[in-house]
Amino acid sequence: MVYILDNEIKFLPGVGPKRAELLQKELNIRTFGDLLYHFPFRYIDKTHVYAIRDLSEDLPYVLLKGKIVGFREVSASQKRLIAMFTDGTGSIDLVWFKGISFIQKNLRAGSTYTIFGKPTSFNGKLNIVHPELEDLVKDEGKISSSIQGVYGSTERLKDMGLGTRAIHRLQGALLGMALPKIEETLPAYLIEANRVASLGEALLNIHFPQSPELLKKAQDRLKFEELFYVELSILRTRTKRVKANNGFRFAQVGETFNHFFYHNLPFELTGAQKRTIKEIRADTGSGRQMNRLLQGDVGCGKTMVALMCMLIAVDNGYQSCMMAPTEILATQHFNSITEMLRGMSLSVALLTGSTKKSARQKLLEKLRQGQIHILIGTHALIEDAVQFERLGFVAIDEQHRFGVAQRGKLWEKSDHPPHILVMTATPIPRTLAMTLYGDLDVSVIDELPPGRKPVKTLHFFDSKRGHVFGFMREQIAAGRQVYVVYPLICESEKMDYKNLQEGWEMITQLFPAPQYRVCMVHGKLKNEEKEAAMQAFVRGEANIMVATSVIEVGVNVPNASVMVIESAERFGLAQLHQLRGRVGRGAEQSFCILMSGVKLSADSRHRLQMMCSTTDGFKIAEADLKLRGPGDLEGTMQSGMAFDLRIANLATDSKILEYARKVAEQVLQDDPLLGDPKNEILLKTISKLKNDSLDYSTIS
Ligand code: ADP
Ligand code: MG
Repeated sequence: MVYILDNEIKFLPGVGPKRAELLQKELNIRTFGDLLYHFPFRYIDKTHVYAIRDLSEDLPYVLLKGKIVGFREVSASQKRLIAMFTDGTGSIDLVWFKGISFIQKNLRAGSTYTIFGKPTSFNGKLNIVHPELEDLVKDEGKISSSIQGVYGSTERLKDMGLGTRAIHRLQGALLGMALPKIEETLPAYLIEANRVASLGEALLNIHFPQSPELLKKAQDRLKFEELFYVELSILRTRTKRVKANNGFRFAQVGETFNHFFYHNLPFELTGAQKRTIKEIRADTGSGRQMNRLLQGDVGCGKTMVALMCMLIAVDNGYQSCMMAPTEILATQHFNSITEMLRGMSLSVALLTGSTKKSARQKLLEKLRQGQIHILIGTHALIEDAVQFERLGFVAIDEQHRFGVAQRGKLWEKSDHPPHILVMTATPIPRTLAMTLYGDLDVSVIDELPPGRKPVKTLHFFDSKRGHVFGFMREQIAAGRQVYVVYPLICESEKMDYKNLQEGWEMITQLFPAPQYRVCMVHGKLKNEEKEAAMQAFVRGEANIMVATSVIEVGVNVPNASVMVIESAERFGLAQLHQLRGRVGRGAEQSFCILMSGVKLSADSRHRLQMMCSTTDGFKIAEADLKLRGPGDLEGTMQSGMAFDLRIANLATDSKILEYARKVAEQVLQDDPLLGDPKNEILLKTISKLKNDSLDYSTIS
């Protein structure tokens, strides 16, 4: 017999084939179970009755009790019905645009009604559009509650009569028939020990909360379960990986590393860099494959750590590669690494989309024969034609730009998976990192090289631009260099491009040659042009670089001390922080100047204030997560996200996440293979998890 929740949704009374098809298309609801796990995204409290006198348009949905005293003319042309409603404290208009004849037939002037809706202001008067009428539409299901869930729906579903109310009613009907047959998905001993609600209780209360306390209990149970299973599968794959013991073993630190350390290293490593290198040493020497996330704020020196690890790979007879998200960055890594390795007989090569065909062919040949020790490049590295003789170590810079699948392709280039080091300047809590990026160990560089002064950040409205130009002149007179960055949401957007062009014209007029030299970098330039402009700035020949956020990642010019960000309100926090990280790399005091219009949304103002008040990347990342929420987070970090979450929120549920992780660790410690009969449910549920077929253990 089919398990009740596996039934196709079209068999649920009130759905049928047409609506079933739409439910699947619009909300991916295919079965009873899918519907039941389509949770409300918010709740309306219907326990408190408001007085009309106290209403304002700031209020959310409100419950009112009163009389309909009469109807105003329906204007035939505008198709509208208005009822005047009063409760003795005041009166308000109820307005309908649709279903007018039904309402007219059923509503009576002089009768008392309980209505429910959102007060809005229209022509200076409050009204409620399409209120719910308690006494008209009787709930069909037997289950009801005074806290009502609001469900995600779409225009097309609403047109088919499947708005939030209808979904609510379907849930009631479904729960009525399914509740007694729902199978628990957590073992009894875990439910008891962690004092969480049973699944049936939780599902009932998530849809029909019997009290605020029971709603909270239901949410806690479902979030806990969701995060528990995510952590359990991650920890299991990790256990398997550790047991598999199939990593390359970098047994020794040899001549190459030591020569570099004693003769070429241009500065003393920070304590945090040393510690990180040690951690990587231990990992790569253990015989198991390393899968490590290296976190550290912009400018903390992650590249050096990666380079020194690549030298250990050389010492053990392996090739390495380093993948960067942009061509500019890859080129810069190539140049600085080549420079650092001067005098050492190592072969370092660069491969990007614009490597010429003949050069490329030669390079690939040498790579296959093992004559190249370190290959640096962009996405071009993951193409099939790129084959190594013995790839042992992969460093991926600024990982959030690469997808999981893309990264997976890198390790397939070797019969054994190489050691993987993923570097990011977006600090995130450890548990969160593990959930987002699968099974990773985490190293943190929490120290900047000595002598760095925190960047001063200031916010100016566009009207103060004159001041800012004056300041730029002063800084340039003192020998410094300046970035001016324009937002570019999408490189092909004409509007954005226009902003950049206009900015360029203004700046070249105000900072004329020969006294000043201004260069420009953006995505539409040819590679040689881009490279020439970059080089002019890196060598200090240009005073000002006008750019798009192309330069966001990685570019390193220690003499640049001013970062002017135009239309700063259009950038996200993480991006602003990255851009600011381009300055403050030398010994001089550096400045980040955020320009914006006067009209700012609350969120934008918050972001700019945040930037002015702290340089702590960790705080900024937390604020970013909270501001954007997990939905958007999936958008930008989607690359790493290994699981879909239905109810838990990675930004706000970190406590539950930590807890769920501890429980999962304990379970696996007691029963690593989950072979104990009491854990049977766990195995069964894990195998149902959507993405479990993908093995994330080796692709970070
Ligand atoms: P990020 O971590 O943002 O990638 P980089 O690796 O680009 O930072 O390093 C930023 C700058 O700091 C580079 O110029 C690098 O040479 C320099 N640097 C790195 N480590 C040290 C150190 N221990 N002492 C001084 N300068 C360092
Ligand atoms: Mg970097």
